[in-house]
Amino acid sequence: MDVDYVAMQGETIANAARNMILAVGEDPEREGLRKTPQRVAHSMFELCRGYTEDIRHEIAVFDAEGADQMVCQWNIPLYSLCEHHMLPFVGYAHIGYIPKEHVLGLSKLKRITDHFARRLQIQERLTREIVDYVDGSVHPRGAIVCVEAEHLCMTMRGVQAPGTRTTTEAITGVFADPAEGSKEEFLTLLSMQRRPH
Ligand code: ZN
Repeated sequence: MDVDYVAMQGETIANAARNMILAVGEDPEREGLRKTPQRVAHSMFELCRGYTEDIRHEIAVFDAEGADQMVCQWNIPLYSLCEHHMLPFVGYAHIGYIPKEHVLGLSKLKRITDHFARRLQIQERLTREIVDYVDGSVHPRGAIVCVEAEHLCMTMRGVQAPGTRTTTEAITGVFADPAEGSKEEFLTLLSMQRRPH
């Protein structure tokens, strides 16, 4: 992103934050709040960097060297913003795929998860975008993503249901074929790995 663009967008976000501070009845000039609009702008850029960053050059793909069984990664930390309230939802992504000719560098599943989480999201779309990216990167026999998250818009406001977790799944390829048993295997492994909140 070019510097002028960032400065302009930063100012727009800071102005919006200043207006919100005023609208809730606070004084944006008081000591503790004076730098808040700039901090909000800075933090929004970080939380929404998925819109502007390009991760394609970072996603290293390697020869599978005969590996043809399920590769899984569990409990990948996930922080996103719900697009309905712009409040955080927080949880874990669990990702599996069955390689054909290529495998992904192990740290890349976290990178892909972050890339799609750092924007205004709904959990269902986020789950789909991660699985489609994994599928498009290594062209596996199939891929599966399960996301479990707690939405602050449900726990600190609205229905106020702390501890409620939402689980979403998305699959491609052989994971859609019950005869293959891949999804069942993934879910069995997941139930063994799941971390208590
Ligand atoms: Zn929400």
